[in-house]
Amino acid sequence: MCGIAGYFSRQGSDPAMQVMLTLYAQQHRGQESCGIAASDGNHINIYKSMGYVKEAFTDERLQMLKGTAAIGHARYPTRGASLLSNSQPYVIETLSGPIYAIASNGDVVNYNEVADELRVKGVHFSSKNDGELLGRFIVYHHEREGMGVTDAIKLLMKRVKGAYSAVFLTRDTLYAFRDINGFRPMLIGAVNDDIAVASESCSMDILRATDVREVAPGEIIIITPKTELSISHSQQMLIPREAPRKTHCIFELVYFARPDSYQFDEYVYDVRHKLGARLAAYDDFDADVVVPVPDSANFIAMGYAAAKNVPFNMGLIRNHYVGRTFIRPDQYSRDESVRQKFNPLKDFFTDKKVVMVDDSIVRGTTIRKLVRMVKGAGAKEVHLRIGSPPVIGSCYYGIDTPNRNELIANNMSIEAIQDYLGADSLKYLTIEDLRACVKTADNFCYACFNGEYPIPVETAAAGLK
Ligand code: SF4
Repeated sequence: MCGIAGYFSRQGSDPAMQVMLTLYAQQHRGQESCGIAASDGNHINIYKSMGYVKEAFTDERLQMLKGTAAIGHARYPTRGASLLSNSQPYVIETLSGPIYAIASNGDVVNYNEVADELRVKGVHFSSKNDGELLGRFIVYHHEREGMGVTDAIKLLMKRVKGAYSAVFLTRDTLYAFRDINGFRPMLIGAVNDDIAVASESCSMDILRATDVREVAPGEIIIITPKTELSISHSQQMLIPREAPRKTHCIFELVYFARPDSYQFDEYVYDVRHKLGARLAAYDDFDADVVVPVPDSANFIAMGYAAAKNVPFNMGLIRNHYVGRTFIRPDQYSRDESVRQKFNPLKDFFTDKKVVMVDDSIVRGTTIRKLVRMVKGAGAKEVHLRIGSPPVIGSCYYGIDTPNRNELIANNMSIEAIQDYLGADSLKYLTIEDLRACVKTADNFCYACFNGEYPIPVETAAAGLK
């Protein structure tokens, strides 16, 4: 999972600054590294750094990125180690200098196959990241095979399987395109005469963008100084019969997206509220208090509390300066950050029957510690309610769920999980519950919950889990 941004300036505004603001609003999508690449019309300049957007992009650094168009990326690693060399955007050098850059969100499932094909043709890779693969595919077909960039992207969409929402920058044009399934979100909007691209609508709000809409699955948007500001129609689409059904990631709505985003035609907060109400319908007892595991479960817990007419309260306080535990790349970092991240309110839980709500359970590491923490703080009972079904499969489309052997629901029954977590009861939602909470249930991927992967995963070939 990552956050991407693009900005094409046609009124003298600073695209790198606008991209920085976009990434800043999308920091929750990736906290490991970030970067911005900007075109000054002749070359592409770039600055990348490990860590947070606000720390990386000082005024001085943004001054180095002057130009007419820029793209940016906030990385959350799925493929490739936690190294600056695997961060994005990727700038691709040619004999004319650094004149192409790309940033993408998602995972390519036939990475090795496509990379090997390009290697045989003399293409070299400097990282193991999908973004570089997409960029080199386009540049190879454009520079060496004489294809237009748009045709190269169309070919890419036929050849490269998986999830990718991407922005591609040349000296004078910004392209935005999305895989034909539409796994990951991507939006386009107007900022007066400028055009912005982002992963989530919360960042479009920060830019005060208007006419915001989704880049459709399989769509390629070409942004130049002459691009019509009317962006309410598709500029380039794959022919419909080649496009499969949409398979948006349901996990974006359950956990990943910011609640103030409008994603896949849904208000994220609204879907989470509905998930909570569905959970409440399974219970015939009343708790003293409903407490979320902050922050992604807040609205699910509110939905539960509202449906049951039970008090909702923030009994666990989260330190916002510690990253998401699920995002941290190794077990040691995750263990440390759970303890540093949550603290119970003093005397709040004493003798209470608590319904504790979380969005999902992956390994169970965090929630087990939290149950212990809340019981240690005096709770009489802790009933866990989970706003999604048991996670039984890994994601191959851009979310870093671990190897399936590490997924607790893949190894234990629900009763055994309840015992392991030390909860007094444990209930999950079903896939039917998830489907009931969105308008177009058939347009979503539920593979990590039901094992029905919409794109066959070449596990061995892709070197994935
Ligand atoms: S497998 Fe799960 S996390 Fe991955 S795209 Fe599908 S629903 Fe989302």
